Amino acid sequence: MSEITSRAPVVAAVPSFPVGQVLPWLIFACLLLVVAMYFVAAEEGATALIAGNAIHEWTHDGRHALGFPCH
Ligand SMILES: [Zn+2]
Repeated sequence: MSEITSRAPVVAAVPSFPVGQVLPWLIFACLLLVVAMYFVAAEEGATALIAGNAIHEWTHDGRHALGFPCH
């Protein structure tokens, strides 16, 4: 005795990607990354926004790890 069974094809639901909802967060994340990169890479000397060496010293190891010139 043979039975023929048919199954309905499995359809995977692809989640929609709401670009309009993600884009502001992506822009915000990029802005934070740029600010962080500024403090690691250029917060020193003539380009310093904050007087003193505190920011430079806090980001000093990261600066060397990323290959930015320092001293
Ligand atoms: Zn250094």
